[in-house]
Amino acid sequence: MEKDDKQKKNPGAPPNNVVALPTRCPVDSCGKKPKKMHFCEEHYEWFKVGLITKKGEKPKDFDKKYAAFKRRKAA
Ligand SMILES: [Zn+2]
Repeated sequence: MEKDDKQKKNPGAPPNNVVALPTRCPVDSCGKKPKKMHFCEEHYEWFKVGLITKKGEKPKDFDKKYAAFKRRKAA
């Protein structure tokens, strides 16, 4: 049964379990090419002001923060 050896070295590991570096901005369905870190320019700014985590996740009070952020920007 030597033929099976290679497959058995990684039992249970799904083939696509590799954590790839994101090649697209991870925020929502943005999908733009990353400019800074892994965010596009706009979402990097979001990250800088604390609107999203570095994973691109939104906090519970995102809507409130985002409204304040937009107000600040418009001012
Ligand atoms: Zn983006």
